[in-house]
Amino acid sequence: MLDTLLTQIRKIDKKHQKALKKLGLFTLKDLFFHFPLRYDDFSTISKISNLKREQTATVRGIIQVIENKRTPRKRMIITQALIKDKTGSILAIWFNQPFIARFLRPKTEVLLAGKVGLGISGLQLENPAYEKVKKDQVHVGRIVPVYSVTENLTSKWLRFIIKPLLKYTNQIKDFLSAEIKQNQNLISLPWAIREIHFPTNSFRLKQAKKRLVFDELFLIQLNSLSKRLEWQKNKSYPVKFPKELIKSFVRSLPYKLTDDQKRSAWEIIKDLEKEKPASRLLEGDVGSGKTVVATMAMLEATKAGLQSCLMAPTEILAKQHFETISNLLKKFDSIVGLLTRTDSKIKEKSLSKEISRSQMLSKLEKGKIQVLIGTHALLQEKVKFKDLALVIVDEQHRFGVKQRARLRKINKSGLTPHLLSMTATPIPRTLALSIYGDLDLSIISEMPKGRQKIETQVVSLEDREKTYDFISDQIKKGHQVYVVCPLIEESDKLGVKSATEEYKKLSKKIFPHYKIGLLHGKLKKEEKEKVMSDFAQGKIDILVSTPVIEVGIDVPNVTVMMIEGAERFGLAQLYQFRGRVGRGKAKSYCFLFSDSETEKVRKRLSSLVQAKSGFELAEIDLKMRGPGEVFGLRQWGIPDLKMASLMDAITLKKARDEAKKLLEKEPQLKNFPQLREKLKEFGEMVHLE
Ligand code: ADP
Ligand code: MG
Repeated sequence: MLDTLLTQIRKIDKKHQKALKKLGLFTLKDLFFHFPLRYDDFSTISKISNLKREQTATVRGIIQVIENKRTPRKRMIITQALIKDKTGSILAIWFNQPFIARFLRPKTEVLLAGKVGLGISGLQLENPAYEKVKKDQVHVGRIVPVYSVTENLTSKWLRFIIKPLLKYTNQIKDFLSAEIKQNQNLISLPWAIREIHFPTNSFRLKQAKKRLVFDELFLIQLNSLSKRLEWQKNKSYPVKFPKELIKSFVRSLPYKLTDDQKRSAWEIIKDLEKEKPASRLLEGDVGSGKTVVATMAMLEATKAGLQSCLMAPTEILAKQHFETISNLLKKFDSIVGLLTRTDSKIKEKSLSKEISRSQMLSKLEKGKIQVLIGTHALLQEKVKFKDLALVIVDEQHRFGVKQRARLRKINKSGLTPHLLSMTATPIPRTLALSIYGDLDLSIISEMPKGRQKIETQVVSLEDREKTYDFISDQIKKGHQVYVVCPLIEESDKLGVKSATEEYKKLSKKIFPHYKIGLLHGKLKKEEKEKVMSDFAQGKIDILVSTPVIEVGIDVPNVTVMMIEGAERFGLAQLYQFRGRVGRGKAKSYCFLFSDSETEKVRKRLSSLVQAKSGFELAEIDLKMRGPGEVFGLRQWGIPDLKMASLMDAITLKKARDEAKKLLEKEPQLKNFPQLREKLKEFGEMVHLE
């Protein structure tokens, strides 16, 4: 029954079938789980004599007269009705809906809900929602659901369809155990579904939301925790904490570690001591110093006679990591290797040596290289290690099932490496727990001392010229510039159009005498690398790029970050772009250009001027735009109502605890076939990986 196709329901015609498909609704069950976006509370009935201007009100009365009129000049049809209750009467008017006059005949008792405005003859209800009084109201006189809709499909129509179908909700299987429902004080699923669509009252609506939010978080947690259990069934290398070595490593650094760095390092040290493979996410702003923490962990593995590897998103970044890390490790007797598509070399005590690819592979397999740096592609290749104890991935939040499967086979020994992911995306803890529940989390939120402040400015239209002059001055002084432009059209997924246009504009009109480089998603890998390395070497003055391409290189000579269409980006993302400058000694600048001059945009952008950390910005952004927009969750297919729940810290904790408890008792969920089925369905729906 629940699998009944919507095309088989007689009331749904071809036009509506198509529209439903567009919303991804195919079966009756899909329809039940298409929750309202919001509600109009038309449940409180006001006396007509009490109505006040500007209020939104619901009244109940009898139609006295109703008629259509044509306005003299605008050729618009106005429907006017006089409605009367015991306390008085009021005029209702509708525009261009002449059929209403045929539907609501005089003497009919109706419910109307809408805004009270002022007309020529006094107060009037403007374009009110209407419904005849009946036993069970659908559109007025109750809390009314408002759905997300598309072309050819209205909320009203959906209400009309869904209401009578709700009797079939009794066929929905409730996958939560009675025990959990009782512990958490939750109503049954079929009941919650009925109430979420047509709430009996606001208390029932709250109960329905509570149940559905819990479900969402519970399933997410169950999903990630069972993956975590699965992962932890593997055996890894317990690495003992080499206290003296780490002390001397810390002493060898030209700076003092921040407290956050120390704490994160300690959490990782604890991970490595275990026999179960760790999986941890290290979050920290751009420039917060994650690399040194990662290096410390790799040094530990080296000391234990084991291997480790670090993977970066691009070749250039891999090369940079190779230089930095081999430098940090040079006093500590480790052989560091770099393996990318174009490079294969090792460094031992500051001596660099090119070796062939096959030599490299054989050395790795024999355990003769302790620390390997490469790109994410390393995992796709047939690289084997002798004893790889630790894998670190830079700028990749999450490790998919496939990648984990690969890690299980990467060692000749059969053991699984510990896993550490690093990211500069500042995801608040609650949200991180929601979406990365299978990972442990370490956060570096304080920046090392003495960082220069990057002068940030929201540039208005009239200041554009002036800003170009300023940028030109910077280039004359020998500095370089990044320009990031937004993706404007849906069809321009790779940013070819937007970046190319900006490139043309800058090179033809604005900065014709400077060397300008272009980076977008359509370029071949080698072409991208070439542009980036030219830029790094100073052969290009201005680099125009799309946001898709991480401008993830460290070029200290760049002093200007210019962002076009800044309003189109999330604050956290803008923050990241900005973090690309200010890496050298010279004072650096970030200019935000925006096509929109609205107050809201201005306010949002100027929080970038004030905020102290990426985390602070992420929180502001979350409040303003919600997690769907901020973290692109929408693209992962997590629906709206459910998204709100991702930030619900209290329910999250409860859901996580229940999921843990259940998995401890029943790791395979043997006695919960319905839950197992739901979880499977859920895992397929939410492609978090
Ligand atoms: P990210 O977290 O973005 O990867 P990096 O590890 O590249 O940051 O560090 C950015 C810069 O900060 C590097 O030049 C590094 O040497 C420096 N650094 C790291 N930790 C500290 C610290 N505690 N004090 C001062 N500078 C530091
Ligand atoms: Mg980094």
